[in-house]
Amino acid sequence: MAVEETIFSKIIRQEIPATLLYQDDLVSAFRDIQPQAPTHILIVPNKVIPTVNQVTSEDELALGRLFTVARTLAEQEGIAEDGYRLIVNCNRHGGQEVFHLHMHLLGGKPLGRLVA
Ligand code: 5GP
Repeated sequence: MAVEETIFSKIIRQEIPATLLYQDDLVSAFRDIQPQAPTHILIVPNKVIPTVNQVTSEDELALGRLFTVARTLAEQEGIAEDGYRLIVNCNRHGGQEVFHLHMHLLGGKPLGRLVA
């Protein structure tokens, strides 16, 4: 089945503006357009994987890199020591709006307890 591109593919290809903070052959990271915290960055595989439900073992390198990039960006943002939150939403009940798998990196203020 063909996977449909989202706005994130255009950001990855730098066809539309975004504050791109990191990019390599596997992943890209850019600031969220509607930040929910002082630091709100989206870290995405360059390849379109619509949701976690479509993840395969072939994606493990790219998905692992989401974490190493998150760690590096958290340090760059100065939020590593106080802490931060990494979130991956899946489908409707998870609150996913853009169907290109992405990790949110949120920090810069106390985020409180995570409740449903
Ligand atoms: P989701 O709810 O799918 O996990 O999160 C999607 C996120 O993408 C939201 O936080 C939303 O603000 C962000 N977003 C949606 N469209 C754009 C865009 O065009 N540019 C950027 N930088 N972020 C976007």
